[in-house]
Amino acid sequence: MSIALTNGLIGLLQLLTAAALLGWLLGGLPWWLLLALSSWLILQSVEFHRFWRWARKPLSRPANHSALWQTPTDHLYRTLQQSRERSKSLLERLDRMRVINQALPDAAVLINPAGQIELYNDAAARLLELRPENLRRSLVGHLRHPQLIALLEGKVPENLVELPAPGPIERRLEVRRIRIDKDNWLILARDVTQLNRLLTMRQDFVANVSHELRTPLTVIIGYLEALEDQSLDQDTVQQLVQKLSSPAHRMKALVDDLLLLTRLESSPVPVISDLDPINVPVMLRQLASEAEQLSNGRHEILVEADNELGLIGIETELHSAFINLVTNAIRYSPNGGRIWIRWYRTGRGPCFEVQDEGVGIAPEHLSRITERFYRVDLGAARVRGGTGLGLAIVKHVLKRHDATLQVQSSPGAGSRFYSIFPDFRIRRLPTTARQAINRDNP
Ligand code: ADP
Repeated sequence: MSIALTNGLIGLLQLLTAAALLGWLLGGLPWWLLLALSSWLILQSVEFHRFWRWARKPLSRPANHSALWQTPTDHLYRTLQQSRERSKSLLERLDRMRVINQALPDAAVLINPAGQIELYNDAAARLLELRPENLRRSLVGHLRHPQLIALLEGKVPENLVELPAPGPIERRLEVRRIRIDKDNWLILARDVTQLNRLLTMRQDFVANVSHELRTPLTVIIGYLEALEDQSLDQDTVQQLVQKLSSPAHRMKALVDDLLLLTRLESSPVPVISDLDPINVPVMLRQLASEAEQLSNGRHEILVEADNELGLIGIETELHSAFINLVTNAIRYSPNGGRIWIRWYRTGRGPCFEVQDEGVGIAPEHLSRITERFYRVDLGAARVRGGTGLGLAIVKHVLKRHDATLQVQSSPGAGSRFYSIFPDFRIRRLPTTARQAINRDNP
């Protein structure tokens, strides 16, 4: 600025000196000086006019000015450009913040010192049913919940409450109050319905496991106490020791099933290309022979298998799932009942199926039988020796093989448990394997 002013003044001084020189040489000095000054003033007016025109649109590059005007105009232009860049980047950041805020799954509401809603995001509109007309209105007036009033009045320890969400859908919200500055508060709300459900499931699960383990454990303790009697003869001791075996095995079966379920839930599913095809027809024959042993001649076991049909999957897991279905068929079928184990192609993919002529299941139980420890008839299931985890294991194994468990059943008419696998898991079995099966099972 000072350089521009100096340059400008030097220019004026040079003009005046030239005028003075002309006045001294030609005479009429005051006129020459007046002429010089007027010309300088006219020039400055023109410059001022140009500056004024530029100042109305200062974002365009300024035209060339005389020395007195050029530097300040350039300076002004640069400052304007810089502040323009700054506000552009601020706007971009603000925009990004707005996008993040709207994408947040949790509701965020800004409350002003008067307890009114200043701002809210999309999640708040969804979870708290806020609309633009609620802006500048009280949040308490909108939600009308005593716990929320207490929270906003700062009367809740840890500034956290759980309350029902407004609207027809039954949901629970966890609402938190966070201080932003001296007078403004941020209210955050998140949907904890699913979390609560999971917590309840976990509590139920622990209670169920404890209960299931407690029953055989009580029996074992009873026998052990009886064994403490010194006066028992050898035969009675032998009988009591034998009786310990059944509850102990039941506990082992339960723990084995629990471990299997945990493994199924936590271990990653292998990539299909890492797996070998399973010879399902051979597996069916193994299942049938295990079923014969279990049934001990009380049921007729029939196998129908497509000998060309192999499946890409985890053999141990599929065996666990299939044997659970076969065991259930035996467990819930009366003596003399027939049980079919089938493996065949359908239009939707290969199908594994176990059908029985057993007790069947009433429709109201069908949607729940794959839940852990869910039994249609608890007493009967215990007597028959199930852990209550069999179908939960089946469901998980099938899920890991892109399939689901389907059931057709009605009381007294038997049951059909089946699962259709996706076509991409099919592998045609090599001829030698097929021939081997055909030879064994003509
Ligand atoms: P469990 O070990 O008690 O058999 P599951 O998870 O295998 O547990 O089965 C859950 C319940 O489903 C059983 O208690 C039984 O009531 C019913 N169920 C399963 N399979 C059959 C079947 N083939 N016929 C009749 N009921 C069955």
